[in-house]
Amino acid sequence: MAKYFGTNGARGKTDLFTPEFSSSLAAAFATWAGKGKILVGRDTRTTGEMVESAIVSGLLSAGSQPVLLGVVPSPTVEFETTKLGAAGAIVITASHNPPEWIGVKCIDSKGVSLSKERAEEVEKIMEAKKTTRAQWNEIKEISEYGQAASDHAQAIKKWVNAGKISKRKPKLVLDCGNGTACNIAPQLFAELGCEITTINSHPDGHFPGRNSEPTKENVADLMATVKKLGADAGIAWDGDGDRVIFIDERRGEFIIGDKSFALCVELALRKRKGAAVTTVATSNAIKDIATAHGCKLFYSKVGAPYISEKMIETKAVIGGEEVGGVIWPEFHYGKDGFTTAAKIVEAISEKPLSKWIASLPEYYNAKTKIALEEKEKTEVIEKLKKQLEKAGEKTTTIDGVRVDRGNAWCIIRPSGTEHYARIFAEAKTQKEADALLKEFEQKLTALKK
Ligand code: MG
Repeated sequence: MAKYFGTNGARGKTDLFTPEFSSSLAAAFATWAGKGKILVGRDTRTTGEMVESAIVSGLLSAGSQPVLLGVVPSPTVEFETTKLGAAGAIVITASHNPPEWIGVKCIDSKGVSLSKERAEEVEKIMEAKKTTRAQWNEIKEISEYGQAASDHAQAIKKWVNAGKISKRKPKLVLDCGNGTACNIAPQLFAELGCEITTINSHPDGHFPGRNSEPTKENVADLMATVKKLGADAGIAWDGDGDRVIFIDERRGEFIIGDKSFALCVELALRKRKGAAVTTVATSNAIKDIATAHGCKLFYSKVGAPYISEKMIETKAVIGGEEVGGVIWPEFHYGKDGFTTAAKIVEAISEKPLSKWIASLPEYYNAKTKIALEEKEKTEVIEKLKKQLEKAGEKTTTIDGVRVDRGNAWCIIRPSGTEHYARIFAEAKTQKEADALLKEFEQKLTALKK
């Protein structure tokens, strides 16, 4: 089991990310990735430069050539990895976590973030001290590349129908959350001809404006501003810009990630037929949309790296997950909050966001969690799996266990980091979703004893 890496990189605080640890991790990753350029990007956190210096030192010691991209979003680093032909990349970011958190995401040469299983290989190199160390005459020079955000923005501008957007001139409120979005979003949408108002738009690792995670509670200011200005949409990103959420024009309402992802699937499949990928914990709305377009939907485990791997395997044209992360493979295989935002802004240049959302399949959900000890987690879920199979239920065991009953379904998954199992139910009515949740809560509680 990976000790430091979870489903989306390694996370910790200053006690974990010491210069020694950061440098060893970088050198082990360089050994894993092989010789060549390794891109290094970071978010706006106060610890960024400290960790970056150690990482650069580790990369140099292993004979790699570090290319510093500076403060840029994670999707920008992923985009540049294939564009600049790098052997890999390291993003120093704790995503949406509070300011004291530090994180590192390792990216392979295809621009895919390393899953827990692949990161374990890097950890093994580090623990076994099998890192390659370069001789004095093999040490490379550090180079800097300051064009990454601009490259990414230019590519997005070419990809969307910029003419349609500039003609409609949508009125947008952008909430960059003092994160990396500050360095790309205002310029991108201004250049696309939108009328923009920004909030929390200066980079600041203390996150003075709002918490970094773009939840409904955290973007209250944005919702109020959209309403006050009568804007066409509000857009907010998390700290590293891979996640994005939207506020509609009608009453300044928060649109859950499930819905904006469903809209992206609709927009993508309209343009290009092909497979779609999502996690086993995502709404059936995605399945309905794919079916309506005559396209296949494939499921992956929960976590962006698994979606990316499945997308490569199935040559999918769109992928994503319910928290507001969408992957557009024509750019790269990471979740990208800027291509997603531009695509949706292009759509609202045609008709209002609330109308798009209202046209999507409607589902209701309910969720809860049950305390389970570490050992119990796998045992109880395994027992439930057997019980359901015996009862002839339709189950999927890609991640935890999912039961499908017509339009309704329920998933029970062990938490990766904490001592509980999550239960999530979805149905065509709230009553049905609540009942399904209750049924499985009771089943799990009974098995616990
Ligand atoms: Mg993130």
